[in-house]
Amino acid sequence: MSTIISDESHITFDELVALLRRIFINADVAEGNADILAVNCAMCERDGSFSHGIFRVPGYLASLKTGWVDGRAVPAVEDAGAAFVRVDAQNGFAQPALAAARPILIDKVRNAGVAVLAIRDSHHFSALWPDVEPFAREGLIGMAFVSGLASVIPFGGSKVVFGTNPIAFATPVAGASPLVFDQATSAISNGDVRIAAREGNNVPLGSGVDRRGQPTVDPTAILDGGALLPFGGHKGTSIALMVEILASALTGGQFSLEVDFSGHPGAETPRTGQLLIVIDPERGGNSAATYRVRQLIDKLRDAGQTRLPGDRRYTRRKASDDYGIPISLPDLRYLRSLATSQHTP
Ligand code: NDP
Repeated sequence: MSTIISDESHITFDELVALLRRIFINADVAEGNADILAVNCAMCERDGSFSHGIFRVPGYLASLKTGWVDGRAVPAVEDAGAAFVRVDAQNGFAQPALAAARPILIDKVRNAGVAVLAIRDSHHFSALWPDVEPFAREGLIGMAFVSGLASVIPFGGSKVVFGTNPIAFATPVAGASPLVFDQATSAISNGDVRIAAREGNNVPLGSGVDRRGQPTVDPTAILDGGALLPFGGHKGTSIALMVEILASALTGGQFSLEVDFSGHPGAETPRTGQLLIVIDPERGGNSAATYRVRQLIDKLRDAGQTRLPGDRRYTRRKASDDYGIPISLPDLRYLRSLATSQHTP
C-alpha cells in the first residue's frame, strides 16, 4: 500500500486566529490590538491573499522588535466635523485605529450620508479589502487609500517616489456578496515580488526595473536596488499620486518617500497614513442603487467577464470554511514555535 506524504495541513479559522493572537501578544502587542491584527491576518490567509497573510508575520515581528511600531498604541479618535473623523494612530497599526473610529464613522455616515476617516501616524501592513468589505456588508460603499514605502518610480522618472499605494472599493450588491476590488497602483505588489523571489519565479515584464533602471523579469533584481513601475504608465502614476495626497498629505501622515526606518534595521511596516471614504448609497436618491449594481454586474458577466474582483477570494473563503485553511507544515511549525516562545525573534 502506498503512503501519501503531504506537506500541507488544514486548520480552522479560529485556530489560526488563536495562534496569531498568541504570537502578537508574545511580541508585546496589547491584547485588544492583537485580537484585531490576528483576525485581519487570518482573514487574508483564509481568502488566499497570500501576500498579506502569514507571509507577513516575520515583518510584523521585526517592526515590533525594533520598536519601529508600537503594538500597545492607543489610537486617539477626533471628531473633526459633521462628516469627518480623524485618528492619530500614535505610531500603532492602522487596523486598531480603524476599529476605534468605526462607531463614530458609521454614525456620521448614517446622519450625513457620507463620512471621511483620516488616519495618521499609522502602519498598514495588510490587504485593504478587510477594511472596506464590512462596510458593504452593512449596505454602505467603502473606499480606502493607503500610502506605503517608496518603491515605485513615477512614469518617465528614474527615482522612486511612491509606495505601492493600494486602493480598495467595496459596494453592496442586491442579492449577492459585495463587489470588492483591492489593488496596488504599482504593476505588481511588493509582496508578490517577494513571493516570486522566494519561489524562484519570474515576474511579468513591465513589473519593475533593476538597479541600472533596465526592465527586468527577475524579482531579486527588483528587490536588490531596483524598483517597481506603476500600472498603466502615466495614468497609474496619477492614481498613485492621488493616493499619496489623500493618504499622506491630507491625513498628516508621511509621504512614502519620507519614511525612514534606517534607525530600526529589519523593520518592514510603513509609517504613513490612510484615508477611508464611506457613502450611504441610498442618499443618491435611488433606493434601487444596489439592484442597479447587480444589473451592471450581470451585464459584465453576460459580456464575458466571467471572473469579477472578489470572486477568487470568495471561492477560496468557502473552501477554507468547508475544509479548513491550507497551511504548509513548515509554516505551521513556525507559527506554533512563535506562539509558544515568550520572546519572538
Ligand atoms: P491583484 O492584482 O492580485 O488583484 C487586484 C484586484 O483585481 C483584486 O480585487 C482581484 O480580485 C482582482 N482581480 C485579479 N485578477 C482578476 C481578473 N483576472 N479578473 C478580474 N478581477 C481580477 O492585487 P495586487 O497585487 O495589486 O494587490 C495585492 C494585495 O496587496 C491587495 O490586497 C492590496 O491591498 C495589498 N497591498 C497592500 C499594501 C499596503 O501597504 N498595505 C501595499 C500594496 C498592496 P480577488 O481579490 O478576487 O483576487
